[in-house]
Amino acid sequence: MAAATDGQHGAGAAGDQLQLDVVADIFAGHGLPFTRQRQAVWEYFCTVGRASTAAEATEALRERGVAQATVYRTVALLTELGLLVRLHLGEGEACYTAMRVGHSHPLVCRVCRRVVDFDGDGDLAFLERTLRATTGFAIYGHHLEVYGICPECAAQGRDASTEGERPPGSEGSGEGR
Ligand SMILES: [Zn+2]
Ligand SMILES: [Zn+2]
Repeated sequence: MAAATDGQHGAGAAGDQLQLDVVADIFAGHGLPFTRQRQAVWEYFCTVGRASTAAEATEALRERGVAQATVYRTVALLTELGLLVRLHLGEGEACYTAMRVGHSHPLVCRVCRRVVDFDGDGDLAFLERTLRATTGFAIYGHHLEVYGICPECAAQGRDASTEGERPPGSEGSGEGR
């Protein structure tokens, strides 16, 4: 059997987390070389643990000699291949997170952009059945991201509105930050 490791959550197992064989296969399937530089970009998004912009990836990959244009092109390519997903975190620069192969979805903190991937097995089965019945579509999948505020940010009283989308001139209520 292939990688069906149930109940192994949390970061750490780098080899497992990177899914390099699977990703290399996807590239090969599209006739694209999975170059060392593309691999470096993929590794960055797999291991960074938070939704990141292409600019942040560029910064982090500079010392590995990956040029900015390569990072941006690779981010676009990985997104096209469904390996990165673009998140909706308000205005600002586009943020991306790596998609796990298999059925999982990202839960994203809107404040610090931390990402927790959760197992989506069976999650929308009822909706998909209903849609199949009501529309006649053959349903093959779905795309889902969940947004919230992580416990650490909540404990510090941080919310999305105190982190940049603050209306000018209003200091909010209450004590210090
Ligand atoms: Zn947070
Ligand atoms: Zn799902």
